[in-house]
Amino acid sequence: MHNEIRKPKVYLVGAGPGRADLITLRGAELLKTADCIIVDKLANPVLLQLARKDAEIIHVPKRIGPDSFTQDQVNRILADKALSGKTVVRLKGGDPCMFGRCTEEAQVLNAAGVEFEIVPGVTAAIAAAEYTGIMLTDRRYSSQVAFITGREAEGKEQTNLDWDVLARFPGTLVFYMGIGALPSIASKLVENGMSPEMPAALVADATLPTQRLVQAPLGRIAEECKKQQIEPPALVIVGPAAAGDPGLNWFMQQPLYGKGLVVTRDPDGNADSARKVIARGGRPIEYPTLAIQSLTDRNEFLRALAEFPVYQWVIFTSANGVRIFFEALRKLGKDARVFGGIKIAAIGPRTAEALEPFGIRADFVPEVFTGRELARQLIGYTDLRGKKVLMLRSEIASDELAEGLQAGGAAVTDVAVYTALPHRGDDKALIEQIRQGKVQWLTFASPSAVRGFFEQIPAESVHSYGLKVASVGPVTSKELVRVGVCVDVEATEHTIDGLLDAIEDVERRA
Ligand code: SAH
Repeated sequence: MHNEIRKPKVYLVGAGPGRADLITLRGAELLKTADCIIVDKLANPVLLQLARKDAEIIHVPKRIGPDSFTQDQVNRILADKALSGKTVVRLKGGDPCMFGRCTEEAQVLNAAGVEFEIVPGVTAAIAAAEYTGIMLTDRRYSSQVAFITGREAEGKEQTNLDWDVLARFPGTLVFYMGIGALPSIASKLVENGMSPEMPAALVADATLPTQRLVQAPLGRIAEECKKQQIEPPALVIVGPAAAGDPGLNWFMQQPLYGKGLVVTRDPDGNADSARKVIARGGRPIEYPTLAIQSLTDRNEFLRALAEFPVYQWVIFTSANGVRIFFEALRKLGKDARVFGGIKIAAIGPRTAEALEPFGIRADFVPEVFTGRELARQLIGYTDLRGKKVLMLRSEIASDELAEGLQAGGAAVTDVAVYTALPHRGDDKALIEQIRQGKVQWLTFASPSAVRGFFEQIPAESVHSYGLKVASVGPVTSKELVRVGVCVDVEATEHTIDGLLDAIEDVERRA
């Protein structure tokens, strides 16, 4: 309804505790449509990738510093943006109302005549406990849970907290904003009669690949956290539940937990690999070595497309090739109907998957990755003698496949639809992370990524810092050996998931 005048509205949305995909579906939908997003420091910045390209994004950190905002300023921005006709999302870490100053924001909006909706989020306490095997409630020893702000413990003359009651609380205490105040929280509880032997735990960066857990008796927890240099954001959990059950700590027991994995594809590919690493509990470090560039404006491609119906087979060699081919089709005002009865081969399951959104099921999906073997399989699958075959591939792929098919009697037209240009990463920053021991694995998904990476980072660093190297398949491994690097593991299934499976196997055995 285009003519309808939109009522000013602000959505107070919980971003979830840290990990981006712990936001609610409702929150994610609203982020996709908002005109203006006003965001806290604790919300995962990855979520902003959901925003429209033209959305206005305003960061409102409320810490001390030149760029910080007062609550009054934030309230005013919210109301002003909504009154100027924009759909506003106010994105807050965790749940928007849990220690989130939601009352003030909602009241200001009310007073300004701006409608609002609250979208709950997973609050840090719940997520921190569940990502460390600590059960906040348990019928045996925790029939009640209290969520408390640790700010109250610090330097405030008048406190709303009754330490006498908290020290006797028969359940689990969870302190938000507790790290600075940890020594005084612990001593106030003990002074008021809680046992210094009471289990306590501190969870920092909950649900993120950098999550840390410190467990110690209440009397020693502050000292232990100091020793381990724990930094905010962190929560303090006190009570019998805080002892946890190491067997239930599923997140930190994952084989990739705590491991830094460098991903070395093009920027889009790296974002995809990073999501997969995070989903397995690892810490991705994105180091782009390549930039994918379409070559579909070349005559060679346009000619092949114009004479498309003469081909009996079209071969796609990668998901990138599929994506770029269909982008070009769309730009030229065409669609999947160009294929008519043409048979399609997709090399590898990911390439076949990339075809599916376009309504196309590949006729033949070989899983091998050397050109010679592919040619052998395709010839084994169908008689190619006298057939016209169009290969749509990367400019830098090897010629083995085309040569093999020609040897089998096919007339091959080999067209490059994209190329990978070298891309420079921030080598100094990566070397610093390597020096600090934050990198355990280097991962490679193509020979060109290997070349790109080791043109920037010296191959000796692999050995001198004890880095492990994982390769997606034999062609990539060969290139690693050529640049003088030992391959610790090669994927059995030649995909990113296969690569990560192989690394997990090594870590599980370690
Ligand atoms: N509205 C938020 C809390 C805001 S107060 C929520 O519902 O979670 C900020 C405090 O939340 C931090 O000081 C810290 O104690 C806690 N916190 C937020 N994110 C956290 C995380 N990923 N890990 C541990 N604590 C976190």
